[in-house]
Formats: sequence, structure tokens, C-alpha cells
Amino acid sequence: MKTKQYVIALDAGTTSCRAILFDKNRRFVAAESKEFKQIYPSAGYVEHDAEEIYRVQKETLLNLLSNREIAPSQIAAIGITNQRETTVIWDRHSQKPIYHAIVWQCRRTEHICRQFKQEGWEPYIHKHTGLVLDAYFSATKIKWILDTVPGARAQAKKGDLLFGTIDTWLLYKFTDGAVFATDHTNASRTMLYDICSLSWDENLLHAFDIPPSMLAQVKNSGDIYGDCNVRGTPIPIAALCGDQQASLLGQGCLAPGDAKNTYGTGCFILEHIGSKMQLSKNGLITTLAASTHNEIAYAMEGSVFIAGALIQWLRDEIGLLSSSTQSEEMAKKVEDTGGVYIVPAFAGLGAPYWDMSARGIITGITRGTNKNHLVRAALEAIAYQVNDVLISIEKDTQIPLTQLKVDGGACTNDFLMQFQSDISQITLVRPATVEVTALGAAVLAGFTVGFYDSIQNNSYSDASIKIFSPQMAPSQQKALFAGWHKAVAKARESN
Ligand code: ADP
Repeated sequence: MKTKQYVIALDAGTTSCRAILFDKNRRFVAAESKEFKQIYPSAGYVEHDAEEIYRVQKETLLNLLSNREIAPSQIAAIGITNQRETTVIWDRHSQKPIYHAIVWQCRRTEHICRQFKQEGWEPYIHKHTGLVLDAYFSATKIKWILDTVPGARAQAKKGDLLFGTIDTWLLYKFTDGAVFATDHTNASRTMLYDICSLSWDENLLHAFDIPPSMLAQVKNSGDIYGDCNVRGTPIPIAALCGDQQASLLGQGCLAPGDAKNTYGTGCFILEHIGSKMQLSKNGLITTLAASTHNEIAYAMEGSVFIAGALIQWLRDEIGLLSSSTQSEEMAKKVEDTGGVYIVPAFAGLGAPYWDMSARGIITGITRGTNKNHLVRAALEAIAYQVNDVLISIEKDTQIPLTQLKVDGGACTNDFLMQFQSDISQITLVRPATVEVTALGAAVLAGFTVGFYDSIQNNSYSDASIKIFSPQMAPSQQKALFAGWHKAVAKARESN
């Protein structure tokens, strides 16, 4: 039998599934990736085919091994990281979903949230789950499926239906129905899990009319979940972890005050706040960080809905640029935005505003405004939104943030990174590998089976990082940021 040489992270994202191989030194070795269908049945509705996600994820795993002639026996463990909140309900006997997966972005359950707000559930939900009452999280999506699919609730009450986020669904399929479990990070995104008592909340289950038999066992993120049979060889699945918490860990943010931001379609800012639960007074949510050996840690989180997506919109719908990367050189062609601000409240504003009726605006346009100004204003808008969240985190934690670790597709944009550093007056640290989400899942799994000796990663060797330090005068920073808040006020009036 060959010795164990690698760990595999399965990264089940929102648009693609990836399988990534890491070696004993936690170095990236190879990856396979495949996209799957995005289903938009009507405005604001987003679905995935859960069976397709499993098929695609399995294909990337098998291709990763066969394309590099690696035997399953060389793999010490598999860690799964996943898009969070996305809701799958399936029949435990047939292993078939009864409806498409309802994706985290889907807004179809806003009316249920309004009803629960009217009934006064908001403070209870915040106190127990750490979340704000929003359609983003799984609870209202489960209720919607049970209310809508004929016969579903009766079937659920009989104990025939199971609910899972994508981690749970993949685990169930990869173990051929033998293991029905989730981890702390994913459970904390359902709006049904009490993050203080670490148990499913009976009052919420009752209020949403969700039978407890539908819910998975909650384990540590790093834990032996079960074996995945790969070409006759069992490989232990030894970690489940939501993607943002995996990236927090992959970035080495393991102590209170450590923070990271992922710049993708949206932005996800998480700060480790230690082992004591703390609620936000400034519009953020509290969530569970990755756990090992029953060591529980919390994180404060703020998300920006539209970040890289704003550049995508300027590219695909407005035609101002031909690639996202081009935004950097365009922004650098002008000294400033000439007073232009873009507030990309396409679907309302997230943290710290949580104003679902705000709509996008562009302000300060003059005859001298050109496309470079607009592109620059778009990149700056990403940084301003992130800064709003960083300020809320500082207010809540009372710890001045001095450093932010960055990852995600748009973090390769040096202009954006420098502007973020300037406007937030903090140091940004960018690792050489932006595969930190997969690394986080791999490290958790490898640590759990003893392949790695700690969860502290070493991806930040001095040679591999790029640091951005503030260069803007504080007076200029203040003036620019004040202009942003004026523009935000207009976006909030605009509907
Ligand atoms: P996700 O995982 O959310 O799908 P990625 O992390 O792959 O996204 O990042 C892709 C997003 O980042 C896209 O919205 C794209 O427009 C944006 N993006 C990618 N590269 C750049 C860049 N150099 N400058 C600005 N935005 C970028």
C-alpha cells in the first residue's frame, strides 16, 4: 500500500465544483474544476440541481486522481467546503431531492421574513442564531419547499424527508446514505441553530413548522464523518466547513482580532472573535468559526452583496470594459473619479444598512466624466462598502483592526487593494495563493486524521505575500468617505 501523500479539498461553490490536491507541506499541487447550471425560474429566484452538483463534484474528484495517476490509497483525507445556506430537501429512501436546491442568493422567501418580523421574531432570532432575519438563510427556504411541494410536509412529518446544506447533501451521497451530518459552521447559517447552546432551536423549528427528524447531526468541522468509496478504496471525509469559515482558517485567522475579506461576486468579511459569543449592535451577524476537538470559536461577519458583480455588470450589461482585469488599468488612467460615486444597491444594501428597498445610483456625473472615471468609481465603491463593514466590526469588538488578509478573484486588482488600504487606513496582506478556501478545508481534514500536526497554516512565507499600506492623507480619506455616505443616503431615498 502506498503511503499517504496528499489531502483533497472538495470546494462546492456557487457556480462550480472544484477538487484541489494539497501535499504534506500544504502546498497546492493540482486542481480540477467544472461549472454547473444556474437556474433562474423567475426574477429574484435562483436554483441549482443538487444531483448535478453531486455528479460534477464526483467527476472533478475522479479526474483529479486519474489525470495525475494518483491512487486513492495515497489520499489521507477529504475535506468538503461549500456554498453556505443553499437548501436541499431529499427523500431518505430514494436519495432524490424533492425540489431543486434553493440557492443562498434566492429572494423568494422575503414575504415569509416579513411575516416573521411582524410576529416579532427578529430579536429572538438574533439572540439565539446570531443572524438577522433574512431570506438569505436556510430556514425560510425549507419552509417554502414544505409549504409548496404537494405532500411534502406530511412526508416530512412521517420522517421520510431530510434537509441539508450542500456539505450535508454531498456527505450523504458520497457515503451512499450512511452518514447524515453537518458541521458547526454550516449549521450556524440555517437560522435554526442556537449558537450558544449548540443545538437545534426547538422554538424556531416549531415556528417554521419543520420536523426535527429532518435535521442532521451537528459535529465539529474537523471530524471523522465517514468513508467515501473511491474506486474500491475508502477515503475518510474528515472535514466539513462553510466556504467563508474555511477561508478564515485558510488565511490563518485563528486568534481574536484576525480578519479576512474575500473579494468575489460579493465580499465576505469575517473576524475571529474568540470563544465567547458576542452579538453585533451594528448590523453584523455572529457565526460559528471552524471547530476542532469541541473547541468552539465565533466570528463576526458582514457581507457586501455586490462587489466584483459591479465590475461584471459594467462589463456585460453596459459594455464599458471587455474583461474584469482591465478595470485596474482603466482606473489608474485617471487621478480620481472626478466626484463620481456609484452605490451598487442592485438588490438593496447589506451590512450595516440592511435596507432592502435601496436601489443603485450613480451620482456626481459632469460633462467631463468618462468611462475610466466610472470604472474607478465602481472599484472604489467595493472598497467603501467593505470599509462600512470594517467600521461596524471595530465598533462591535472594540478592537482596532490593523490588518486585513485578502483573497478572492478581485483581490488580484492592485488598484483596488491600495484604495482599500487607503480608505480603511489599514494594512492589507495578500497571500501568493488565493486558494485559501480550499486550503482551509484541506488543513482541517488533514489535521483531523493526523496528516498535519496543526491547523496553523504556513501559506504566509515572507517571499510569497504582497502588502498594501495606507498612503492617503487622513484628510483626503475623510472627505472621500463622507462623499460616499452622501451617495448612500441618496440611494436609500431613491425608492
Ligand atoms: P466567486 O467565487 O464569487 O464566483 P471569484 O472569487 O472568482 O468569484 O471572483 C470573480 C469576481 O471578481 C467577478 O465578479 C469579477 O468581475 C471580479 N474580478 C475578477 N478579477 C477582477 C479584477 N482584476 N478586478 C476587479 N474585479 C475582478
